[in-house]
Parts: sequence; C-alpha cells; structure tokens
Amino acid sequence: MALLPICTYPDPVLRQKTEYVKTIDDEIRRLIDDMAETLYNAPGIGLAANQVGRSLRLLIIDLQLEEDNPGLLVLINPELVDGRGEMVHEEGCLSLPDFWANVKRHEEVIVRAQDREGKEIEFQAQGLLSIALQHEIDHLDGKLFIDRIGPVALDIFKRKWKKKHKEAKE
Ligand SMILES: [Zn+2]
Repeated sequence: MALLPICTYPDPVLRQKTEYVKTIDDEIRRLIDDMAETLYNAPGIGLAANQVGRSLRLLIIDLQLEEDNPGLLVLINPELVDGRGEMVHEEGCLSLPDFWANVKRHEEVIVRAQDREGKEIEFQAQGLLSIALQHEIDHLDGKLFIDRIGPVALDIFKRKWKKKHKEAKE
C-alpha cells in the first residue's frame, strides 16, 4: 500500500466529472487500498478517487469515531437514487484544508453502487453517513461543498484561501 498525494483546491481534476469504472480489477482494488491508507493517514472520513488525481467514479467512506461504524465502505459507480428531508451540518474537506462551513443536505438518501467485488448494492443512509455520501458523490460530479454554501461563507472561504496562498508563496 502507498500514501497518495491529496489534490487541493483549485486543482482542475476536482472540477471534472469522473468516468465510470468499467472493470473492477486488481489495479482498481490497489487504488482502493491506497485510498484507504491515505484516508486513515489524513485523517478524514471520506475520499473520492479524483481527490487523489484519478478521475474515476469511486469513493470510500469510514466514519471511524462514530458508534456502530460498519468499517470501510467502498462504493464503485455510486448514484444517488433518492433523497428526502433536509439537514444542516458543518462540513470540511481534505481538498479544502482548514475550512469548515454549514451545508444543507438531504437527511436521508438511497444510494446504488457496486462493491469492491463488483456486486450491485443499494442501501439507505441517514445522519452523518448520508452527509458523507452526498459530499463524496458531489466530488465525483466535479462539485465541492463550497458550491453549496451561502455568499457570506463563500466570501470568507475566498479571503482565507487568498491569505493562505499568499503566505505559502512568501
Ligand atoms: Zn471533500
């Protein structure tokens, strides 16, 4: 296994819609293992393949500190089938370091995907898992959570990012 570099805003790979995974082979499974190691090392609760520079429709989630955590969830070619209700929760992202903001999402979602063996799965999720799924599926569609925050929060993000970028150059 290997740690992969995480692409951060404004890397254009984060804005491209990812491609469907046609064949789930050893190369894809190796990518999943490397993504898992990268996720645990970061640490984060979710990672989409395009966050490590691979424009493929593949994501992993591990809520880690949550109770009743089922462990690493691997979703290949995931789709949001349905969403119900509304909830607002503070989100962060490994591709937007040191920034958090409230985001409005569905309270409950139904997701269809393939697992790491290629088997079709469909399930319902609520709460933090529902949020993580919507956040990561957004990544696969080239969206970031800053696309879903209000103009005031977006302005704060832009100023913070500019300041940090300037400091990094100095
Ligand atoms: Zn993210």
